[in-house]
Order: sequence, then structure tokens, then C-alpha cells
Amino acid sequence: MFHVKHPDTAAVDFGDDTPLARELADLRARRRALADATVSLPVRTRTLTVSNQKGGVGKTTTTVNLAAALASAGARVLVIDLDPQGNASTALGVPHTADIPSVYDVLIDEFPLADIVQTSPESPLLTCAPSTIHLAGAEIELVSQVAREHRLRRALDDYLANTAEPPHVVLIDCPPSLGLLTINAFTAADEVLIPIQCEYYALEGLSQLLGSVQMIQKHLNPPLHVSTILLTMYDGRTRLAQQVAEEVRTHFPREVMATVIPRSVRVSEAPSFGQTVIAYDGQSAGAVAYREAAVELLGRGSTDSEGDAPSMNEGKR
Ligand code: ATP
Ligand code: MG
Repeated sequence: MFHVKHPDTAAVDFGDDTPLARELADLRARRRALADATVSLPVRTRTLTVSNQKGGVGKTTTTVNLAAALASAGARVLVIDLDPQGNASTALGVPHTADIPSVYDVLIDEFPLADIVQTSPESPLLTCAPSTIHLAGAEIELVSQVAREHRLRRALDDYLANTAEPPHVVLIDCPPSLGLLTINAFTAADEVLIPIQCEYYALEGLSQLLGSVQMIQKHLNPPLHVSTILLTMYDGRTRLAQQVAEEVRTHFPREVMATVIPRSVRVSEAPSFGQTVIAYDGQSAGAVAYREAAVELLGRGSTDSEGDAPSMNEGKR
């Protein structure tokens, strides 16, 4: 059990009944609730792959900020950057130039994961297996490899079995495609976390993603299931965002988190400083939302895939 403590610094004029004052008062109350929150860390490592083949929906932003929020709640976290763009490595302040050993060496040359994992300057609890530009070629090189779908799984199993203090949570940041890199992530993980951007066409392509998860579950990794859906870039002032959120909750009542990530300038600024929003501005609305999501994720535990796997009729928004 871990008691999360945070300073509560906001000065809010409660006499001022404007929308902004109400928003600030709400944020202050939520910070206070977070300071009082207790979390239980998982006994067994939880491995989640953050996937959505749609580009720019907040996969990397969610991976790094959730990871930092989990670490700030006391969890040991490993982020595996499986995207050749290397944005997660950048946001975690981890060097990932071409000469650095990376996930590429693990997948193609069978380097032990322990040889490439680096600690983020943000927290000793936060580690990252970086991606380098070499990973761009891995998708093609993997095709001719033995056990091409299982390479990450084997490396991760070996790492977890041989590390003195294994991570409580592993988060895998996927590229925006359903190629062999993403398949390696699906095979290595127990849970899929799908970020959904609260925009038009949010649900487009989701059937295809769920179909891929079902295929992997059937043929390669039976425990895999969609445990979590997180609504991102939510702008509560627009009717569209509210409609998207309602529609996703109707389709996936069990999977959608209560926490919603707002669209926030601080969230989008943080990576350019090589930081997560938790380090960049830990009291901002975006940081508070990711800290709430971390508490919720730990509180939900690893739901298993009893009952029907989530499915849907393709919707367009
Ligand atoms: P890709 O498919 O290219 O890997 P992605 O799904 O990982 O993209 P991100 O890179 O996380 O998406 O986010 C896309 C863009 O949206 C980035 O510029 C990011 O800074 C911005 N963004 C993400 N979440 C938020 C937010 N809550 N508020 C404001 N901007 C956001
Ligand atoms: Mg990304």
C-alpha cells in the first residue's frame, strides 16, 4: 500500500463564480482527493500494450504520462518503446541516438532486455527500453526470423524472471500500424489499453483493432484482452467530444475508464522539454488526469476476459 502525498498549492477565489473559478475549484478538489488516495501495487507484473492503429490519438502521450504517474504513486514501471519514431524515449529523457543499444538489438540480435534498459532522469522507478531509428527496418527484418511474433515476449519473460526487482507495470508504446512490431507487443502483453481521441472518426478502425486482438488471443496469446479504454484530448466544451465519449461508453461500458484526459497545452508542451507532464507541471489539469488514471488503473486490477470479448459494429464519428 502506498500513500500518495502531494502539496496542494492552488490559491482559488471561491467567491468568484465564473466558469474558470469553478474549474480551478474542481481541480483543487481533485488534487486533494489524489493526495488522500491509497493504491495497491500489483503482486504480479502487469503488462499492457498501448495500441491503436490510428495515428496521433495519444498512444505515446498516454504511455509516458501514465508511466510517470504510476512511478509517482510508487510503482516500478518499464516503458518499452516499440515505435521507430522514438517519441516515448524522447519524452522520458532517455538517449536514443543510432549508436545506443535499443529494442532493435533485442528483437533482431537477441540482446537481453537488461542490456538496453535505461533509467529515466525523472524517477529511479521509471525505466525505458528505448527505440532507435534502426527499428524502422525491424518490421521487414523480422519477417524472415524464427519465432518472429514471440521475440519480445521471450525477451520480456527472461527479463522479468532475472531482475531482482521486476517492474510492477510494463507499458509498451506501439507504432500506428498492425504490423509485426505491434504483433510482438500483443504477444508479449496480457492487456491492451486503447487510447481513443474524442474527435470525429474516433471509432473508425476500432473493429479491425479488436479483430486483431481476437486473432492474437486465438492463435498466439490466449490471456490477451482489451482491459482498458482511455478517452484522450477531451474538450468538454464541444458537443462532439461529449457525443464521442457517450458512444464509446455505450459500446464498452466495462473497459472505458471513468477518468478522461483533457486536451491541455501543458501535455503537448512537455515532450519538447524531454519531460512527461508529471515532471513538467505536476499540478496542471493534464497531469492531475494522468495521476487519476494511474490510481484508477491500479484500482481496477487486471480484469480477465470473462464473458464476451468486446466487439462492435463499426461506428463513424
Ligand atoms: P503516433 O500514431 O504518431 O504514434 P500517438 O497516437 O502516439 O501518435 P501522440 O504522439 O501521443 O499520439 O499525440 C499526438 C499529438 O497530440 C502530439 O502532438 C501530442 O502532443 C498531442 N496530444 C496528445 N494528448 C494531448 C492532450 N491531452 N492535450 C493536448 N495535446 C495532446
Ligand atoms: Mg506514438
